[in-house]
Amino acid sequence: MSNLKMKEAALIYLDRSGGLQKFIDDCKYYNDSKQSYAVYRFNVLINPSDIVELDAELGNHILHQPLKAAQVFQSVCYIAVKTLSLIGQLQTETQINIVLKLTHLPPLPSYCLDLCEFPRDYTSQRFYTMQGIVIAMTTVTKYTQGARFLCSDEACPLSKGFQYIRVHVPGATESATVRSDFLCNLCSSSLQEDRKFRVLGDKQIVEIITAKSLHAFQGCCNNQPFRFQSLTVFLRDESVNKMNIGNEYKVIGIPACVKTSQTAICIEANSITFCIPKVPSGISDNFRCLLSLTSSSCWKFTAILANIFASQIVPPGTYNLLKLCLLMSLVQTSDRNKELENCLDILIVTSDTILIDRLLNFSINLVPRGIRHSVSTEIFPTLSRNKYGTGAVSIQAGSALLAKGGICFIGDLASHKKDKLEQLQSAVESRSITVYISGKKFGDDVDQQMTFPVQCSFWSFLDMDSPSRRNIQKTNMLIGQMDCSLIPANLVEAFALLINCNESSPCHPLLPTVQHTLKKAIDPEGLLYLASKQFTTEDFEKLLAFAKNLNVEFSLEAERMIHGYYLASRRIRTDSICGSKLSASALKYLVSLSEAHARLNLRNKVLKEDVLIAALLFETSLTLKYGAAVFCVAPNAVFPFEQYDEEYLEQRDVYLTECQQQLQQFIATYGPGTAIFASDE
Ligand SMILES: [Zn+2]
Repeated sequence: MSNLKMKEAALIYLDRSGGLQKFIDDCKYYNDSKQSYAVYRFNVLINPSDIVELDAELGNHILHQPLKAAQVFQSVCYIAVKTLSLIGQLQTETQINIVLKLTHLPPLPSYCLDLCEFPRDYTSQRFYTMQGIVIAMTTVTKYTQGARFLCSDEACPLSKGFQYIRVHVPGATESATVRSDFLCNLCSSSLQEDRKFRVLGDKQIVEIITAKSLHAFQGCCNNQPFRFQSLTVFLRDESVNKMNIGNEYKVIGIPACVKTSQTAICIEANSITFCIPKVPSGISDNFRCLLSLTSSSCWKFTAILANIFASQIVPPGTYNLLKLCLLMSLVQTSDRNKELENCLDILIVTSDTILIDRLLNFSINLVPRGIRHSVSTEIFPTLSRNKYGTGAVSIQAGSALLAKGGICFIGDLASHKKDKLEQLQSAVESRSITVYISGKKFGDDVDQQMTFPVQCSFWSFLDMDSPSRRNIQKTNMLIGQMDCSLIPANLVEAFALLINCNESSPCHPLLPTVQHTLKKAIDPEGLLYLASKQFTTEDFEKLLAFAKNLNVEFSLEAERMIHGYYLASRRIRTDSICGSKLSASALKYLVSLSEAHARLNLRNKVLKEDVLIAALLFETSLTLKYGAAVFCVAPNAVFPFEQYDEEYLEQRDVYLTECQQQLQQFIATYGPGTAIFASDE
């Protein structure tokens, strides 16, 4: 009786939700094809809230016994097919395969499968929701959606018709659906599959990890051993190719225990949604106060930010140029699923690798996707044979794809092998990586290739003090040029910013750093400076999260200035032999740097003051790469003075205003519309 009541409720729900009309349309498609199948597959969209309101029992059934609930809908749909003559070819109810697609689950803890908690429930075969980041995925292969079996004894009535229909159910392996040892219920003869009726679907296997396990990649474990396990998600049919490596998704699915060569808990995905993180509504009071105090200037706020940033690692006032660049690179990260075009790669040349390493490690922890690449893993995707024995090839993410939308800190550039550096250079230049799947190697007929976008900024450093580097003869160096031999010049050029962080370079007074290190050794947890108390690490995290989500647009003046500087710069750095030293990506970097400075200022509009900082940073980097040119920028142009009280900030503004006039003069002389080097255009 109760079953009949549920069927009634199911029909009413289908009718009211528009599901019935969709079902009728789907039937028409099958009917028009005139082809006869073993099973006819239908998706039914279910909104659990609506259904519970309509009929609590049916709602409960769907949430807690989805496979049985699907049978209720199967029977309702079969009656509809028969009474309305929807599919001529369809003969039995078992040929209807209903897949219930849930819009959501009740937001209650008992419906969440926490990937961090053990043991997990995988026996109750009901819906759970879980959230994770894709770290590996296979190529798409086929699976059997449904098959028709016939009794092998021709005298048996079941040697004809559609009585023995096997349909894939969540968690079942291929051999559960099609096998050769099924027996006839009537005469116990063996059953044989009627192969021409087999229905194939697409299948893809994805591995996800909880976002929490990313901490293991952020270098905050102090080299303590850690272990985390991924969860396998089966995507079928319309869900195939819905997930991308590196993205975080919320998955509704039914857990199952799959026994192949090893027993594994996996999830049959039912619905997948991309996770959009919450944007903080504002910044801390202290930052807000600082912002309003400095509102008269376009440069003061970011100068103070750079000055006090990471005071846990380096004393305020040191490494300001580097810290400003790190903040700008961090603010150009994105948690959204959009193309990250404006990344800022940073290469630091230093003689103090320990300190730089600490500073960079600290910084990547401030964004959700700061990945510290460890030498034992791969930067780029690698291939392996899929462990579920499905013939598919599994593609493992690697650090760069895992850092999607964030920062991938790859440590000392010289620690990577030559072939990896070549791969890195190509990835930085093309912002994509292609993997080749050799058919011969992985038992497939054809070779395949897959291309993944590389949507992160790379941070790396070069140790100038390494023994192999110290004895290099510095020959043919131009004024201001940095000696980066041992690393291919093309790779150094590929990084948007090259930053010099040696003791001899500006902003790196030795004494405060030594004092800082000694104090930290005595009291590791102590907050040494007032700034560390006023502006905590959490405050910076919140500030970055807020700033990176700002939509910025360029003012006309700023846009003109960027183009002017880019074209002028291209001209003066062009020679008849090598052509221009500035690639087309230079313009992209200038745009990104300007945007970053505006964002860090919590502004929606990019002003020419932001472009100035971008141009100064970029020119400083160009000077290190190729030597000084006509637009001569002092190495300490962005932070000309060592102390940062109010008076000095005022002086810096005056200094930067002069720089701006020089930049405008430079553009006027060498920029577009001027006659010099006109042949180059
Ligand atoms: Zn039989």
